[in-house]
Amino acid sequence: MDHFEYRNGILHAEDVPLTRIAAEVGTPVYVYSRATLTRHARVFRDALAGLDPLICYAVKANGNQAVLKLLAAEGYGADVVSAGEMKRALAAGIPAGKIVFSGVAKTDAEIRAALEAGILQFNVESDAELDAIEQVAAAMGVTARVSLRINPDVDAGTHAKITTGKADNKFGIAWDRAIDVYAHARRLPHVEATGIDLHIGSQLSKLEPFEAAFTRTVELIRRLKAEGHPIRHLDLGGGLGIPYSDETPPAPQAYAEMVHRVTGNLDLKLIFEPGRVIVGNAGLMLSEVVYVKETASKRFLILDAGMNDLMRPALYDAYHEVVAVNEPAAGAPRDPVEIVGPVCESTDVFARERPMPPVARGDLVAFRSAGAYGATMSNTYNARELVPEVLVDGDRYAVIRPRQTVDELIAMDRVPDWI
Ligand SMILES: *Cc1c(COP(=O)(O)O)cnc(C)c1O
Repeated sequence: MDHFEYRNGILHAEDVPLTRIAAEVGTPVYVYSRATLTRHARVFRDALAGLDPLICYAVKANGNQAVLKLLAAEGYGADVVSAGEMKRALAAGIPAGKIVFSGVAKTDAEIRAALEAGILQFNVESDAELDAIEQVAAAMGVTARVSLRINPDVDAGTHAKITTGKADNKFGIAWDRAIDVYAHARRLPHVEATGIDLHIGSQLSKLEPFEAAFTRTVELIRRLKAEGHPIRHLDLGGGLGIPYSDETPPAPQAYAEMVHRVTGNLDLKLIFEPGRVIVGNAGLMLSEVVYVKETASKRFLILDAGMNDLMRPALYDAYHEVVAVNEPAAGAPRDPVEIVGPVCESTDVFARERPMPPVARGDLVAFRSAGAYGATMSNTYNARELVPEVLVDGDRYAVIRPRQTVDELIAMDRVPDWI
């Protein structure tokens, strides 16, 4: 459920007509609904409440300070994959004790920064990283809390480009090496390996792969405990999908019940790292049709938004529902169009053969479910101004990231005095 609805023939975000935001802020622009964001955060949190977990929101899905502050107020911690994201989380008031640090390539400087901040744990993805953490912690005279990210070699059944839990992915420690790596961790005096972590992929639309991976991991925990490893934390990662099109991902309640069934009597502190399921449907991207171009075989809607503003379709064939901001008349024809952006790349295509009601030059369209992995991935390719973000709250809105101008971009460049 979200708060983007037609009222009087115009798509609104809560009580604000999107035509108003387009007129006042310009397009393209991301628009988030505070009520939707908070609702999703509460539904997920309340579904898991019986498990008394720590929920660490995956900052990479949407790291805007306003979004992070709203989630901090709902009790969320943060899952970060860089020192930059850690800074973002800390700046938004998320306590260090609720931050977990994932990612395959933590540098010594990042490890040091995280130890200085006093984060809850590192999710360690290799032997080499374990040794690096030991060295940095030893030099600082502190002990690092770590979970080992184990790759359960389970197919998440999602798009190949967002699957992370198969043996040939770069993520995590190979399943059959887990016992050895825990034994290695135990010999390191400045590392305390009290947790186990997994994350098998994103946009999962079924419970079964989660259940298979969690069940395997629970077996491993029993073996580790039997060998005397003090495993106290189980971090189950993120990955719960959202409906972009006609998929029906499991509800948080069903996910929670499955987790309870699988991990029930293990006496572990559970950690979750949801990203998309919290913010995905709380945002849309608004764009204007610049031209409608007819060729012999196709009709193109050419938008002022491009792959630099919303990368998901170009990056991994992602589907976004595209709707006209002016409500189409009942029974309006739906003819297939190619929805494309202005960027000089053949992959700058948002949708092919997409049935759309009649739209003309100057009309507004909205990409639904664009709150996750939208603005965070945006860039300025083709010297396009960085897309702004707006947060709506009832009948008011605020620009929470202004459009970066081309003059600002140019000002970032430095010409050496030998040119
Ligand atoms: C991306 C990521 C997440 C969040 O994934 P979603 O599909 O957005 O829930 C959680 N944990 C890790 C380690 C990740 O890389």
